[in-house]
Amino acid sequence: MIDRETLQRVFELTGAQNRWRLKETVNLIASENVMSPAAMYVYLNDFMHRYAEGKPFKRHYQGTKHIDELEVMTDSLMGRLLDTDMVDLRPISGTIANAAVFRVLAQPGEEAVIAPVQAGAHVSHTKFGTLGALGIKQVELPYDEERMNVDVDKAVKIIEERRPRFAVLGGSVYLFPHPVREIAEAIHSVGGKLVYDAAHVLGLITGKVWHNPLKEGADAVTASTHKTFPGPQGGVIFFSDKDLYKEVGKTIFPWFVSSHHLHRIPATAVVALEMMEFGHDYAEQIVRNAKRFAEELAARGFKVLGESMGYTTSHQVLLDVSPQGGGAKAAALLEQANIIVNKNLLPYDPPEAVKNPSGLRLGVQEMTRFGMRESDMEVIANFFERVLIRGEDPAKVAKEVTEFRSHYLEVHYGYTLKDVEAFNYVDALRLLS
Ligand SMILES: *Cc1c(COP(=O)(O)O)cnc(C)c1O
Repeated sequence: MIDRETLQRVFELTGAQNRWRLKETVNLIASENVMSPAAMYVYLNDFMHRYAEGKPFKRHYQGTKHIDELEVMTDSLMGRLLDTDMVDLRPISGTIANAAVFRVLAQPGEEAVIAPVQAGAHVSHTKFGTLGALGIKQVELPYDEERMNVDVDKAVKIIEERRPRFAVLGGSVYLFPHPVREIAEAIHSVGGKLVYDAAHVLGLITGKVWHNPLKEGADAVTASTHKTFPGPQGGVIFFSDKDLYKEVGKTIFPWFVSSHHLHRIPATAVVALEMMEFGHDYAEQIVRNAKRFAEELAARGFKVLGESMGYTTSHQVLLDVSPQGGGAKAAALLEQANIIVNKNLLPYDPPEAVKNPSGLRLGVQEMTRFGMRESDMEVIANFFERVLIRGEDPAKVAKEVTEFRSHYLEVHYGYTLKDVEAFNYVDALRLLS
């Protein structure tokens, strides 16, 4: 018997997701984004069925000539954005990119220094995540509360004392750039390497509104390709150190991936081209929106972090909602109002507050991509005030949020289907129907 009911439910749920998250909600998750129609269109391709183990033109499989050419091209396009010709797109996620680099830089039992968790370190940098899984010991650098950043003087001292194999900067929750130059100098002076994790800020770096860590001494930059960089979910590593590039290249396969999910490569190439054309305008607008959003929230009585430093220079805004009942409650109420956010530990929260931290981490990159500008940040801040301060019924606000969102359904800073319709592209689905 064919289970038509379950089959139907699969399609219904997926369709409901598409409608809800692409058309009806204001998404402020700082680690998400959407692809352009052209990138999405090319994403549905036959490469999703195929293997190509190894490096381009040196594969262990036959049938790879098109992915070989595409992968070399995409590595090169991505490299142009960060001004390096050493790129590896085979890690299937940011975490896998970190794993490959960390594994090459240190043996189990050796030490790495990482940015303090308060300064935004990702779980993969820590003993609880990938670093721990690899048996590498974590030494956390000290935190400067006033500047909400790594304490440079104390960090340099620790690096000189411990002589770790490598340092990791970059993170998941940060408003201001980490001190790459100073930490690079210190770690190099003891024979170690600097890894910068640009998962969150890759789109700001390619848009030239955030510093390029490769230019300030980072030996490798790892990243996801789907946060501020609006590509398909995936990972990438950029290098400035040739030996490291070669060594990591030898370990991604066979240690960390077999298939590297080839179908994302052409979509990543499309997004790289979009970023060359529109990336600067996109990134500038993101930072303007984030700043304005922070100011509007503060003006309505919210406690916004980073005030003395102008709130933010990234795509993120950090809000302390402990006066409103804490992060868990605030995030749930906002979801009922069709505003999607995540609760987050703030720099001063104890680690055990993870279930109900004080904060919300907000990112404006996806709404910027849908065309929102500074005045729209004022509208969203008003929704926040109504739900979280004035205690209005979130179901009522939800309707207004969806109405507001309905004016912003088109992806900006990217290519449309019309832009690519003349290219003789045969999508995979048409060949199977
Ligand atoms: C999101 C994130 C990652 C993990 O990326 P995935 O692509 O989800 O594996 C790694 N590092 C940082 C700093 C992140 O924010």
